[in-house]
Amino acid sequence: MIEPSCHVRINWEHFRRNIEELLKRGHDLMPVIKADAYGHGVRKAAAVLEDMGIGWAAAGTIQEAAEVRNAGFSGNIVALLSRAPEKEDVCLACEKRLSPLIHNWEGLEAVARAVRDINAPLGIAVKAETGMGRLGFRLEEMEDVADAIAAEPRLSPIVQVSHFAVADDPAEEEYTKLQCDVFYRAADIMHRKFPDMRCSLGNTAGLVEGFTRKDDICRPGIALYGYDPMFGTAHEGACGPLLPVMEVAAPLISVHPLHKEESVGYGRTFTADSERLVGWVAIGYADGYRRNPAPGTCMCINGVRVPVIGRVAMQMTCVDLTDLAETPAPGDAVYVLGGPGNAVSAQELADWWGTIPYEVTCLLGKNRIEE
Ligand SMILES: *Cc1c(COP(=O)(O)O)cnc(C)c1O
Repeated sequence: MIEPSCHVRINWEHFRRNIEELLKRGHDLMPVIKADAYGHGVRKAAAVLEDMGIGWAAAGTIQEAAEVRNAGFSGNIVALLSRAPEKEDVCLACEKRLSPLIHNWEGLEAVARAVRDINAPLGIAVKAETGMGRLGFRLEEMEDVADAIAAEPRLSPIVQVSHFAVADDPAEEEYTKLQCDVFYRAADIMHRKFPDMRCSLGNTAGLVEGFTRKDDICRPGIALYGYDPMFGTAHEGACGPLLPVMEVAAPLISVHPLHKEESVGYGRTFTADSERLVGWVAIGYADGYRRNPAPGTCMCINGVRVPVIGRVAMQMTCVDLTDLAETPAPGDAVYVLGGPGNAVSAQELADWWGTIPYEVTCLLGKNRIEE
């Protein structure tokens, strides 16, 4: 990989403190570190969880789950994104003690066949469909699912999982409660055959809104990284104090005047109406800095905000430096996310980009260089 021009810094102490904040709710946690820990780096995230004595972790693919194990995590690892597992995937799961999430009959049959062939035990996670309309067995199938798992003694369901669709929206509470109802009815069926099976329903919103049972394992994701899924709703702040974990900076590579009537960049979308000083920052849409930000989008230099002007290019973006008290020079760091002073948050970037903080950290995190 060729080094990107921008620099991603991850504050693992903040990650740890966010988890400590969530642990105050009294649930066991299965922190969600899928998709490279939302762009923050899955290996280091796994090491922090191990250091904190967390007993569960949720990765994406089986391969990512194996990375979590290789990073030294000793607890249970659920792979949320297992296909109808290939035999190699099941071998890897058995060898590394990973739990694929089994969500359909194809997957269940494939995993049963594979553990028979290789004659090894495997703990699996079972997905119940409760209203997301995505993955999982329906309530009316659960009896047959329990029978099918019980028929293969090498398989043990260690946890039943489902996922909320609208737990972050206080106005949709009724729907979320319906999902809970279906989930626990499915769990009752499974518990008749597998009394030790754990339950895991709540994402960040489900956890902090208190929808799930006390002995459930909750699966927070976004709050680990410092962002509130209830932002902008009546329940904003319910997560408690969270600290942002990712920072992204890029160097200024050019600082020059823009005279009255001169324009910057493609499409000439910004024309100076007075004498301006502008700078070009070495980050663009190739680095995940989106091309069409809303008016008002800012970056931060020495703790002070400067507006983005003109069109974002593939590897460069222009900012208006005119109003800065101190003129920066090429080489100075410009923070597009986080940093000192009046820092830009992933929530603000998300608002400017018409998306959510999850996508912001995934996009910008791709520039991270393995430490
Ligand atoms: C991503 C994900 C989560 C975490 O959700 P947050 O909203 O980030 O807390 C939990 N469970 C599943 C199945 C997921 O895919």
